[in-house]
Amino acid sequence: MDLRLTPEMEAFRDEVRTFLANHRDHYAGEAGARPREAALQWQRLLIDNGYAARTIPKAYGGYGAEPDILKTRIIAEEFTRAGAPRGFANQGISMLVPTLLEVGSEDQKKRWIGPTLRGEVVWCQGYSEPGAGSDLASLQTKAVEDGEDFVISGSKIWTSTAAQADMIFCLVRTEPDAAKHDGISYILFPMTTPGIEVRPLKTMTGSAEFNEVFFTDVRVPQSAVVGGRGRGWFVANATLKHERGMLGDPNATEARMHSLIELMKSETVDGERLIDNPVMCDRLMQLQARVMAQKFNGLRLLTSSMTGEPAGMAGLVVKLQGCELNHQIAALAIDALGELGVLYEDGPHLRAKGSWQWNYMFDLGLIIGGGTAQIQKNIIAERGLALPREPKLASV
Ligand SMILES: Cc1cc2nc3c(=O)[nH]c(=O)nc-3n(C[C@H](O)[C@H](O)[C@H](O)COP(=O)(O)OP(=O)(O)OC[C@H]3O[C@@H](n4cnc5c(N)ncnc54)[C@H](O)[C@@H]3O)c2cc1C
Repeated sequence: MDLRLTPEMEAFRDEVRTFLANHRDHYAGEAGARPREAALQWQRLLIDNGYAARTIPKAYGGYGAEPDILKTRIIAEEFTRAGAPRGFANQGISMLVPTLLEVGSEDQKKRWIGPTLRGEVVWCQGYSEPGAGSDLASLQTKAVEDGEDFVISGSKIWTSTAAQADMIFCLVRTEPDAAKHDGISYILFPMTTPGIEVRPLKTMTGSAEFNEVFFTDVRVPQSAVVGGRGRGWFVANATLKHERGMLGDPNATEARMHSLIELMKSETVDGERLIDNPVMCDRLMQLQARVMAQKFNGLRLLTSSMTGEPAGMAGLVVKLQGCELNHQIAALAIDALGELGVLYEDGPHLRAKGSWQWNYMFDLGLIIGGGTAQIQKNIIAERGLALPREPKLASV
């Protein structure tokens, strides 16, 4: 792997740095589930300049650049270095858009990708059900054909941002007599459709990040199915692949590591900087080594996409590593803060608006969401190391 950049790429890096320096006043804060106007404006600026939705065709509302992995990498590095907010990474943009590009109809791409990229349409993901989490193909929400429509009944659980979302991409059982993986369809519909009820679920962060969603005779046109009726398992897995990449994003982890280092340089105990405390420093360096390994694993993935070689094990470890590291980084920040680390919500001594405490609790959930750590280990063992598959119950 040759990591040196050509003069053209160095010039591109300068271009990104200049953009970031010139637009420092426009940096928008956290986008949140329903982005505010300042965040929407920043997102539009990024798309117009090719720093978000870079390789998505112009016809669908993207910037329309040719795929160039090195440029993508340079953009990520420069945004991390500047502490600038990246383009939105939510379930619509990071999971649905690439799925539609892969398997959506032309009409679906034209209708949904542009407004989703600009943050105007917020999506939620209706996969999990009370009896179908890790064993997702056991889902029971049914869609019964009625003329040109499906009529959907059932319920979903742990649906992030359902209370804020305009639209849902949802897995439903359209062929009740088919084998469980074959009878599923992937369908898009508005959350305002009559018959949908959303009940928020409060998590230990204190806010309701996810919800229960109930469907009673929800009527949706059959044309809203993505990738073909009964092919939902294949489409769902395309989305899951993108979800795991989003959750384990090495750039996001590296940005957090930088924040942790800054925290440990600025906070002191009895006049000693936390970064100079041998125990804290030892823990920091152990994490830093893993963050570097994750970063270089990301570069390995870039190399394999450039050469067209299968990513193999490098691709399988991303979600597991990224989510566990994010949680451990927050844990070290809380330990380093000592008594300040147990403050929550508001107060004059709170550091970083309590985001370390919030992240510590939220990130624990992300070790579960998108496929639990145990399931990721199964995938690594079976697909990566070719170990024998675990015994499975017979399909119904
Ligand atoms: C923060 C967060 C956000 C989420 N957002 C969404 C969302 O937007 N949309 C959505 O559809 N879902 C969402 N989920 C749900 C998530 O996908 C499920 O929680 C996850 O797939 C696990 O399913 P489960 O909770 O039913 O646990 P279960 O599948 O019941 O698992 C329980 C335990 O058993 C273990 N286990 C299960 N099967 C195996 C096995 N074969 N081998 C080893 N161990 C096993 C699991 O690892 C886990 O520890 C979210 C979850 C969280 C925590």
